[in-house]
Amino acid sequence: GITISGLTKRFGVTQVLRGVSLAVAPGEFVALVGPSGCGKTTLMRIIAGIETADAGEVVIGERAVTRLRPAKRDIAMVFQSYALYPHLTVRENIAVPLAMRRLSAWQRLPLLGGLLPGARARRAAIAEEVVRAAAPLGLEPLLDRRPGQLSGGQRQRVALARAIIRRPAAFLMDEPLSNLDAALRVQTRREIVEIHRAVGVATLYVTHDQAEALTMADKVAVMMGGELLQVAPPEAIYAEPADLRVAGFIGSPR
Ligand code: ATP
Repeated sequence: GITISGLTKRFGVTQVLRGVSLAVAPGEFVALVGPSGCGKTTLMRIIAGIETADAGEVVIGERAVTRLRPAKRDIAMVFQSYALYPHLTVRENIAVPLAMRRLSAWQRLPLLGGLLPGARARRAAIAEEVVRAAAPLGLEPLLDRRPGQLSGGQRQRVALARAIIRRPAAFLMDEPLSNLDAALRVQTRREIVEIHRAVGVATLYVTHDQAEALTMADKVAVMMGGELLQVAPPEAIYAEPADLRVAGFIGSPR
C-alpha cells in the first residue's frame, strides 16, 4: 500500500502542499481530484521520489521511502507522456523493467549475458511474464511491432503493461488518458480497472475528469489549495460532501 503523512511543500512563496495525509490499502484504487494547480501532480511526484517534500513521510509497502531515490521505491508510474523506446519492439518495451532488474553492468552486455548459464531460462521466464502482462490488454498480436506502428491507445496500453510487469507495491497514474479521444478513454478506463483488479495493487490515480473518478475508484480524494478536504467512496462524496467547497467542486459541470 501507500501511506503518506504530513507532507508539505513550498515553491518560493507558494505553499503547494499543507500537510497531506492519505492511505491507499493494497488492492485499493483511489482517485485524486481537484482544481487545476491544487497540488495533485506535486503530490504524485513526491510519492514517486522525483520531488522532495519539505516535511512529512512516505511509506510504500512496509518500507519508509521518504529519503530513497525513485528507482529504490517499489512503484510503477504511468504519466501523461508515456515514453516508449522507439527502436524497441512492443515485446522489448514491456520487458525493459525485468531485463534491468538485479543485473550487474557486465551481465547486461548482450554477448556475455547470452553466454551465462541460466541466461536462456531467464529469457524464457521474461517472455512468459511479457505475455502475462500483454494478454489482458489485447497486446499479444502487436508484440513484434514498434511504437511508431501503434495508435495512441495502443501505446498507452504498452505503457500500462510495462508498468505492471514488475508487480509493484504501488501504482501511480497522473492523467494517463488525457491524450486519448473520448471513445478510447472510456474503453481504456475499463481496461485500467480490469488490470487493477487482476494485479490487486494500491493505485493512486490523478484525473480532472470526475466521471472517471466516480466510475473507477473505490475512494475519491478531493484536494483543494494543497489540502485533502475529503476522502470517501464516490457515493459518499456525492451524498454527503464534507463542506461547501467539495459540494461546489463535485457538483460543477466540467
Ligand atoms: P493541474 O491539474 O493543472 O495539473 P495540479 O493540481 O497537478 O494542477 P501542481 O502541478 O501540483 O498542480 O502545481 C501546484 C502549484 O505549484 C501550482 O501553483 C504550480 O504553479 C506550482 N508549481 C508546481 N511545480 C513548481 C515548480 N517546480 N516551481 C514553482 N512552482 C511550481
